[in-house]
Amino acid sequence: MEYLTLNNGVQMPLVGFGTFMLGGETCTNAVASAIESGYRMIDTAEAYGNEKEVGEGIKVSGIDRKELFLVTKVNFKSYENAERTVLQSFKNLKTDYIDLLLLHWPFANYYSAWRSLEKLYADGKIRAIGVSNFEPDQLLDLIAYNKIVPTVNQIETNLYCQRSIERSWMDKKQVAHMAYAPLGQGNRNEMFGEPAVLALAKKYGKTPAQILLRFLTQKGIAVIPRSTQPQHIKENFDLFDFSLNDEEMEKLSGLDRREPLIGKPETPELVEFSLTW
Ligand code: NAD
Repeated sequence: MEYLTLNNGVQMPLVGFGTFMLGGETCTNAVASAIESGYRMIDTAEAYGNEKEVGEGIKVSGIDRKELFLVTKVNFKSYENAERTVLQSFKNLKTDYIDLLLLHWPFANYYSAWRSLEKLYADGKIRAIGVSNFEPDQLLDLIAYNKIVPTVNQIETNLYCQRSIERSWMDKKQVAHMAYAPLGQGNRNEMFGEPAVLALAKKYGKTPAQILLRFLTQKGIAVIPRSTQPQHIKENFDLFDFSLNDEEMEKLSGLDRREPLIGKPETPELVEFSLTW
């Protein structure tokens, strides 16, 4: 595994396992299967309603907690009670610390929630704190008027939504880039059938998913693909025995459409989407 060193010195794996929309036994089994395949970073969220099942999957796997890098998020509806909510996440996940705690969306009173995370971090209960879905202006504002610079911004990033402008601001402030929906949420667009991706898959004897994930990790972006199929879980983790050359990286970079699948937070569709979690 390769790692990113966060701005507070904490090492974060470059590949993790996503759990959005996984619930019940499916979630428990997928998490246990991911850990068995070698994943050490697991991403969940209060809003996914599956922290208990993720905790159960970790327990079933038998892994030593210290080997894991656990990521969870406080939902914006809990920002006024962020500390209490985070302590509940600890219970759900059967752990006494979290590796990375994120503010899920820049909605509602995220300043208050950020200060609660700063306190939990100062108390040694969280190893790193960060944000998700923050646009550059929101990120810069949060940095300017608070003590701690977020370690990570988790934003939708994939072949068709590469986020180079957001990334340049994040680099300036040493905020690491974590990609959600790194596979474009599966079959929601034609990414897997993109001719350049298919040609590279053939050349390297890899699958389109592996090319899409390798492209991101090679740009220093952490990825958290989700799957319930053991074969996909394995292949999404098997990314480090080949690398794309500069010309290939450039070609894939040229396919950016700056098109997120999940719209900007202020769009009504997105608000509706987030409320249905
Ligand atoms: P994803 O890009 O990981 O795609 C998942 C889909 O791809 C699934 O349908 C899966 O069956 C398919 N897939 C996975 N591996 C495959 C393979 N090797 N070959 C073919 N198909 C494959 O989408 P996602 O789950 O939305 O994003 C990843 C994770 O990011 C989530 O699970 C969640 O943890 C996180 N996330 C965060 C936010 C946020 O607001 N912070 C939003 C969405 C997702």
